[in-house]
Amino acid sequence: MKTNFNINNLVRDNIKNIQPYSSARDEFTEITSDMVFLDANENPFENGVNRYPDPQQQTVKSKLSEIKNISTENILLGNGSDEVLDLVFRAFCEPNKDNIIILPPTYGMYKVLANINAVEVKEVQLTTGFQPKTQTILLAANQNSKVLFLCSPNNPTGSSFSKVQIEKLLKQFKGIIVLDEAYIDFSKQESWLNRLEEFPNLIITQTLSKAYGMAGIRLGICYASKEIINVLNSIKPPYNVNELTQQKALERLSDSNRIQNEIKQIKSEKVKLQKELEVIDFVQKAYKSDANFLLIKVDDATKRYHQLVNKGIVIRNRTKEPLCENCLRITVGREEENEKLISVLKLLQIF
Ligand SMILES: *Cc1c(COP(=O)(O)O)cnc(C)c1O
Repeated sequence: MKTNFNINNLVRDNIKNIQPYSSARDEFTEITSDMVFLDANENPFENGVNRYPDPQQQTVKSKLSEIKNISTENILLGNGSDEVLDLVFRAFCEPNKDNIIILPPTYGMYKVLANINAVEVKEVQLTTGFQPKTQTILLAANQNSKVLFLCSPNNPTGSSFSKVQIEKLLKQFKGIIVLDEAYIDFSKQESWLNRLEEFPNLIITQTLSKAYGMAGIRLGICYASKEIINVLNSIKPPYNVNELTQQKALERLSDSNRIQNEIKQIKSEKVKLQKELEVIDFVQKAYKSDANFLLIKVDDATKRYHQLVNKGIVIRNRTKEPLCENCLRITVGREEENEKLISVLKLLQIF
């Protein structure tokens, strides 16, 4: 247990005493069928979405609580993880004063959100084995370093960070650690969710966009201490997760067999794809991946990228990212899609 940690020392002053917007739906939560709602200026004619959605998304949270074995008080939902991450910036980072630390190569949104919020970005590159340089990170931090972003499994590398290094950072970094677990359901590594209570400075983000197959509905999940969740709740837009999203999420979360089956298929396709990529003569390396994509190093990433686009296959060229020279990121698709990719790559071997 981390001692001497007080979340109030990290929250921005203007946020600490904020009076959140109280919506009509916030004031009345005990709903019975004989009640008449004339409080929110809604259109009274039923069409399935004429009412404002539950601002606290209680049914979705209860379902997640059941699946992940964590209290609903430790959950906040957002319009994608991107909204959750933005809330973290607005809660903890004073514009033009505070800074965050990121570990490139990593997910691009951390830096974009920092720039939008006028927050300085300190970058500490990963090792060539794509692991965090723990000592360098701790040395780079100062009293204005409010948030450290750890993405594990990481995008675009697909690698997971060592448990020992993550734990060291959780214990020694003085600010908030956001652990982005967008790809955790594809990973052999365990989620840090069951250790949340040990680390009052830990925010874990997950998403329905990847393993859960619902990128289109935009639902991001944040798990943290009650204290942190309360702060984020006080600044989130009241109706940030719409009714259709809540309904679809609930439906899908109740179908865990189907989700598990899809994850299994994606994982076995990934193993196949990796083997096949490794024997393509211009593929120098296919990195080990704990996610649903593979990072490969080729002879000339930009040339190969364009050749694939010309054959109607779109992947991601990551050659401009640090440590990713001539690297391409390939999402694992359905069997027939992966086969098409491989047959096109085989054809390209002669060019
Ligand atoms: C895809 C991805 C997300 C998901 O973001 P959403 O806004 O929830 O779709 C988050 N973090 C990382 C590292 C990702 O690659």
